[in-house]
Amino acid sequence: MAKQAARDGEGPQAGGGSDDEDEDLPFACLLCRKPFGPEPVVTICGHYFDSACAIKRFAKTGKCFACGASTNGVFNR
Ligand SMILES: [Zn+2]
Ligand SMILES: [Zn+2]
Repeated sequence: MAKQAARDGEGPQAGGGSDDEDEDLPFACLLCRKPFGPEPVVTICGHYFDSACAIKRFAKTGKCFACGASTNGVFNR
């Protein structure tokens, strides 16, 4: 059986240009892997955490969990 049924009726991506469009917002905290709480924060390097996790993390290392960049304790909301 070499044939695979089409899934979900989703066709090939239409339009385009660049092939690497990575614009997905994460929906869960990278640290606790739960959906974001009421106040997610984004680090200066563009990674999202919920504020509780971000603060805890920063108290320990000051580095972004996702990419290791120095966050300097700066979070935007
Ligand atoms: Zn979290
Ligand atoms: Zn990062």
